[in-house]
Amino acid sequence: MTEKHYLENELEHLVSSDISMWHFLQKGSLDGIWYWDLENPENEYMSPQFWEVLGHDPATKKHDPVEWQDIIFQDDLAIALDNFNKHCEDPTCPYDQVVRYRHKDGSTVWVRCRGIAVRDSNGKPIRMLGAHNDLTAVKEAEEAALMRADLLKIAYEEANASNEELKAFSFGVSHDLKSPINTISMILNEVLQEPDKLTDKQRMLIKSGQDTAKRMRMLVDELSDYTHLIGQSVVKERVDLSQITQQVVEDLKSDICDTNAQLHIEDMPNVHASPVQMRILLQNLVSNAIKYRKKDTSPVIEMKGFDNEMGKMAGFTIKDNGIGIDKSQHETVFGLFKRLHRYDEVPGTGLGLTICKRILINHGGQIELRSASNKGSLFTCQFPVS
Ligand code: ADP
Repeated sequence: MTEKHYLENELEHLVSSDISMWHFLQKGSLDGIWYWDLENPENEYMSPQFWEVLGHDPATKKHDPVEWQDIIFQDDLAIALDNFNKHCEDPTCPYDQVVRYRHKDGSTVWVRCRGIAVRDSNGKPIRMLGAHNDLTAVKEAEEAALMRADLLKIAYEEANASNEELKAFSFGVSHDLKSPINTISMILNEVLQEPDKLTDKQRMLIKSGQDTAKRMRMLVDELSDYTHLIGQSVVKERVDLSQITQQVVEDLKSDICDTNAQLHIEDMPNVHASPVQMRILLQNLVSNAIKYRKKDTSPVIEMKGFDNEMGKMAGFTIKDNGIGIDKSQHETVFGLFKRLHRYDEVPGTGLGLTICKRILINHGGQIELRSASNKGSLFTCQFPVS
């Protein structure tokens, strides 16, 4: 057996010889004590704190067990009495339970109630010493957390249900719109097969109809891309962004050649992401950097990878020398169908950056924009590495 520390010995002596030390310990660590005369069970001392916690004036109390038995929840009283009997029979059975009392103002007070029997030389319990700890604040916090969890669950289920509804709706709409658009395109193409039979004005109108059909198809396609991304659980894998960037450059080859764009790509990182969504993200950002170029200036696009926060986040920046975006529009451009240009100036749907933002959200990352009118744009995309 290890020897008692000299301070432990000293403390025991201090508490047993100086009553103020016992009072200090009792008040500092307990919310009331009781001491029951089991040989005269109508007598039970309850400390002032015992009653204060329950909202009662200790001066009005008579130290009669009936006083607390009246305000304890009766189910809990049955459990406490059962434990009391077991403990009296067998000291190794602990008298320890959480019980509820009715506070004077009607609220519930949760108390951890522990006790130990004091026995005579034959082992017969003659007194019972008990201690209360008020757990109401803990219980209330626990109940509030459970309620919040329930509310969150309901909100999550509702959001999921409306996402599903939205997806089904948009899938239906885009599917139902695609076939009439294709039919219109086919009819217009057919009419243009015999251009000699048409006047200049008719040819111009049909051309304009074809452009409109093309624009509608683009809109429907992007809308359906967007709704597929909402609420989708992302299947992630290790993705080499420099490889995906090369594929995007290949896809945009003709735009790059037509505009004489120069691309400088440096240190694109590996990320844990959906390769399909990374391709859509890069495709949108690179094609915007080309589309929104300054008149008479070839696009110069710089893409650079980075990692930060000690390798926890990784991402890339994409910088262009284009027309830039005024600060007042930085939020707007990420909104659904928000465009700063007319379709006949620069074609588009106003969904590209919305899709980019959604992809970043899907990956627990974020997209930021730094830009000013006529000063080019810098988009920063960053993701958690794992
Ligand atoms: P879209 O290109 O189809 O119009 P986006 O959502 O991709 O839709 O972009 C929204 C708007 O943000 C664009 O209409 C354009 O005005 C502006 N924008 C996007 N990217 C750039 C960029 N790199 N430089 C300047 N303006 C941009």
